[in-house]
Amino acid sequence: MTAQYDLRGKIAVVTGAGSGIGRSSAITLARNGAAVVVNYKDNERGAAETVSEIQAMRGNAVKVQADVTKREDVMRLMAETMDNFGRVDILVNNAGSIVKLMRIEDCTDEVWDAVMDVNLKSAFLCSQAVIPYFKEQRSGRIINISSLAAQLGGRGGSIPYATAKAALNVFTKGLANELGPYSITVNAIAPGIILTPFHDRFSRPDRLQEVINATPLQRAGSPEEVGGFVAFLASNEAGFITGEVLGIDGGR
Ligand code: NAD
Repeated sequence: MTAQYDLRGKIAVVTGAGSGIGRSSAITLARNGAAVVVNYKDNERGAAETVSEIQAMRGNAVKVQADVTKREDVMRLMAETMDNFGRVDILVNNAGSIVKLMRIEDCTDEVWDAVMDVNLKSAFLCSQAVIPYFKEQRSGRIINISSLAAQLGGRGGSIPYATAKAALNVFTKGLANELGPYSITVNAIAPGIILTPFHDRFSRPDRLQEVINATPLQRAGSPEEVGGFVAFLASNEAGFITGEVLGIDGGR
């Protein structure tokens, strides 16, 4: 694949970029010229592979460990971004998880809080950390990875996840209003089924096939297709798009 957008000179931070959509977003941003901070929590090997893939195409990337549900880790992630690259232009709030499939009647406080932290608080903390830089340079892109589940309500034990992603959509719209006067755009991407390690953990193969059968395009999406969407939203071409929740779901 060749570059489609001109992101040369831009610095991107992608959270949870050691696998799946985060990895693909990091690689696609780098292919289009951005230097990338590849964040990971536990998956150091995955993050190292993302960095190697970027370096193999002569791109620029570093991996930085940080649990993006923790304020002190997020502050360190941004400090290390500044130490490495001296600026930040693009934030992709990708880290997310269902954590554990549980019916609401069985859901514990711990699971509820963990789901809110990884899918919602992480975006609050990371956005808050980049806003001073974005405001000062009067530019910046925040791209939140939401989910189609936010519209459907979450099935088979994922109501907390769908609730967190719905809140992330509202956060996206509010932040777009607040930051618009500084030429900062904030958008969310809402994927349907995308084949990543996420489904190895949270989806039964028969259920996955059912959803694919109910999808007009009759297939799952690839992380590369989402990565391409992220690169578009980070580009100058998308400069007049803000406050949107954009689906990429095969027509579901
Ligand atoms: P994935 O499990 O491969 O990716 C999630 C990444 O986030 C992992 O690398 C994980 O280590 C990382 N992560 C988790 N907690 C973290 C933390 N506290 N700090 C830093 N990193 C952390 O799955 P994916 O499908 O690539 O998911 C990426 C995003 O896409 C998630 O927000 C997910 O909710 C969303 N999404 C996925 C699908 C799908 O079908 N795959 C559909 C809709 C939305």
